[in-house]
Amino acid sequence: MKRYQLRINGEALDPAGGRWFETQNPYSGEAWAEIPECDARDVDRAVQVAHAALTTGPWSQMTATQRGALLHRLGDLIARDARKLAETEVRDNGKLLAEMHAQLNYIPQWFYYYGGLADKVQGAVLPLDKKGYLSYTRNEPVGVVAAITPWNSPLLLASWKIAPALAAGCTVVIKPSEFTSASTLELAELFEEAGFPPGVFNVVTGFGKDVGSPLVEHPLVRKISFTGSDATGRLINEQAARHFKHTAMELGGKSPNVVFEDADMDQAVFGAISGIFAATGQTCIAGSRLLVQDSIHDRFVEKLLSIARTARMGNPMDADTQVGPVTTPPQYRKVLEYLDIARQDGATLLLGGQAASRPECGKGWFVEPTIFGDVTNNMRIAQEEVFGPVLSIIRFKDEEEAVAIANDVRFGLAAAVWTRDIGRAVRMSERLQAGTVWVNCYRAVSFMAPFGGYKDSGLGRENGIDAIREFLQVKTVWINS
Ligand code: NAD
Repeated sequence: MKRYQLRINGEALDPAGGRWFETQNPYSGEAWAEIPECDARDVDRAVQVAHAALTTGPWSQMTATQRGALLHRLGDLIARDARKLAETEVRDNGKLLAEMHAQLNYIPQWFYYYGGLADKVQGAVLPLDKKGYLSYTRNEPVGVVAAITPWNSPLLLASWKIAPALAAGCTVVIKPSEFTSASTLELAELFEEAGFPPGVFNVVTGFGKDVGSPLVEHPLVRKISFTGSDATGRLINEQAARHFKHTAMELGGKSPNVVFEDADMDQAVFGAISGIFAATGQTCIAGSRLLVQDSIHDRFVEKLLSIARTARMGNPMDADTQVGPVTTPPQYRKVLEYLDIARQDGATLLLGGQAASRPECGKGWFVEPTIFGDVTNNMRIAQEEVFGPVLSIIRFKDEEEAVAIANDVRFGLAAAVWTRDIGRAVRMSERLQAGTVWVNCYRAVSFMAPFGGYKDSGLGRENGIDAIREFLQVKTVWINS
C-alpha cells in the first residue's frame, strides 16, 4: 500500500509520532494508502518554517511580480498533472472522475488569475488634512495562513485559499480533511518543482483535534481560512477570537431552488437534478430544497421523477456513471438517518429512500437518489444540511410565499430562481438571503466571481479581485517632511 509522507519546508518527512492512518476508497470500501498522523509537534515545525519563510527567507525578498510568476508556473504543473491528481481525488472521495477531472483542469485558472493580480495590489497616497506630512498606505501580507479544508473537493477548495494567500505574500500551512489528504500531499510536490522557496507551502495531515486545533491555536498563525461544517467553523471561530486572529469561513448550506410556473420546464428539471444529485449531493451549494409553484407542481414532479429514476450508479471511475458513493462511513450513516427522520416527520417518499444494493455499487457506501414530497419548511429535512443525494420538494403559491420559505433557514450560501419573467428574476435576486443567486442556471462558479455565505453559511468571500484583501493588512505610514 502506498505510504505518503508529510511535506514541510520542501521536504518529505515522517510524522513526529511515527504513526500513519489508512485512507479508504468509498467505492470499494478498501484502504488504498497510508497518511501521516501528525500531532502538535508537526504543526509547530510547519508553522515555524512558514513564519521563517515569511519574515527572513527568499520568499520575503521576492517582488510581487516574481511571486506571480511562480504561481503561473504552478498552474502549468497542475494542468500537466490534472488527470493524475483527479484520479487520486476519486480514490479518496468517490466523486465522478469526469467531474474531478473537469475541476482539476479548471484549478490552474486560480493560480493564473491571482498570479496576475499579485503585482497589481496598490496602496494609496493619502490626501491629508495636515500640512508637513506625507502619508501613504502599504498592503502587507497578513501573516502565516492556516488553511483547513473539507473532503468534497479537496484541491479546488484549497486553491481558493492558497492562490490569493500566496499572491498576497503570505505563507501557508494547510490541513486537508483526514478523509482526503492524498491529493494535497501530491500538490506539495508540484510546489517544489515550480521552484517555490522552502517553507512557503506546507502540509500537515491528521485529525481535527490533533492537528486542526493546534494549528488554529498556534501563536504564529495570523489567519485561518476554513471550509467545512458550521459546527467546526463555530469552534474554530471561537478559538481564533480569543487571540484576535483573522478568519474566513466557508460553511454549509440548505439552498433553495425556486421554480416558478413560467420557467422553462426542461431547463428547470435539469437544474433541479444537477442541483442535488451532482457529487451525490455532497456540495455546500446543493439545491436540497426544491420549491415548486402549486400550479405546475404535479407536472414538474412527474418529469423530475422520470429522469431521476434512470440515474446510473456505479464505479466513479467509469465514464457513464452518474451517481457515485457517499464519501465517508460517518456521512453514509448520517444520510441514512435523515431518511428515517424525514419519514417520521411526515414527508412522502417519492423515490429511493434507502441504501443502494445494486450489483454495480460493489461494496461502496451508496445511497439511492432520494426525493421526498409534501415537505414543509419546518421539518428537519428542510432545515438541516444532509450533504447527500436527498431532495425535499416544498410547494408555494406565489412570489411572496416563495421568498418567505426560501429565507426561513439559518443558512444562506446559495439560491436559484427559474423564471422567464425578468422583473421577477430581479426582485427575487434582491430578496433572497444568499451569497450567490443563480437565475435559470445552477452551480456556476468562477475564480472571478466572489463566493461566500450569508447568515450561518460563513464569513468573508473567496474568489474575485477582493479575495486577495482577505490575506492583506493595511499599514499607514506618516513621514514628517
Ligand atoms: P468538517 O467541519 O467536519 O471538517 C472540515 C475540516 O476541519 C477537516 O479538515 C477537519 O479535519 C477539520 N477539523 C475538524 N475539527 C476541527 C477542529 N476542532 N479544529 C480545527 N479543524 C478541525 O467538514 P467536512 O465534513 O469535511 O465537510 C463538509 C462540510 O463542509 C459541509 O458542511 C459543507 O457544506 C461544507 N463545505 C462548505 C463549502 C463552502 O465553500 N461554503 C464548500 C465545501 C464544503
